[in-house]
Amino acid sequence: MSKPGRNDLCYCGSGLKYKKCHMQEDQAKEKERSLIERAGNFIRRDLLKFARDERFAEEFAKTLPFYWDGYYDPANAEQMSQPEALRFFDWFLFDHELPDGKRLIELYAEERMEDLSTHQQKIAADWVNVGASSLYELTAYEGQTLHLRDYFTGEAFEVYEAGGRGNVELGELIITRLVPVSDRIELSTTAAYLPAEEITDVKAKIEAAREAYLAEHPDANHTEFMRKHSHLLVHHALQEAKKQGRPPIARLDTNRPDTKTQKMARGMARFKR
Ligand SMILES: [Zn+2]
Repeated sequence: MSKPGRNDLCYCGSGLKYKKCHMQEDQAKEKERSLIERAGNFIRRDLLKFARDERFAEEFAKTLPFYWDGYYDPANAEQMSQPEALRFFDWFLFDHELPDGKRLIELYAEERMEDLSTHQQKIAADWVNVGASSLYELTAYEGQTLHLRDYFTGEAFEVYEAGGRGNVELGELIITRLVPVSDRIELSTTAAYLPAEEITDVKAKIEAAREAYLAEHPDANHTEFMRKHSHLLVHHALQEAKKQGRPPIARLDTNRPDTKTQKMARGMARFKR
């Protein structure tokens, strides 16, 4: 909807000029929206900073090859592309359990909450409880609104994504995490994409893992199971890319313009022993 000019008639049909009618209310809503957006982006950046703290370096070194199925380890961590680093840290923050059983997002909320603004606090508190990274089918889209369906539970979501659907076609899958930002659902970070021909047996793989996990942990719910197995989605994508003859990770792409060290990985690699 395009905004009326100050002296145009208001869209609500009151017969008043816009400036005398809904203009102030609209401006207040826009301001609130932009505060919320900034708070969401601040929390994303602040979480990355938090995860790169030296006290998590050992856990980083241990889990990097686990997440990447051996393609990355502390010795070549600097060669992760930015989206790769973002995806790893998203998993590290939200899905991975530290040896004491806590997740980084939980520690973040405990330690950082009082330094955050009201908007930021609301987002951080909500994000402690978000679901695991999962697989979502694109069922419809209009502009920046994506209709996604959880590939395992069938639950449907309307998601706001500034970049729209990108390359993803209807019926294809994305690996991502959905997070609430006030009244909107967004992606937590850069999503990975599973083209139609690479979906293959991903469902069977996850179901097999679920059966094995439930045999050991009969009371586990879907979120707990997925948090512990969301890396399998990444492993599947890596295997399929390799089968298709595409470089599974940016480092192996001969067309990659350079192996410019990514800031994020560089920070963490400082600690490698
Ligand atoms: Zn009005």
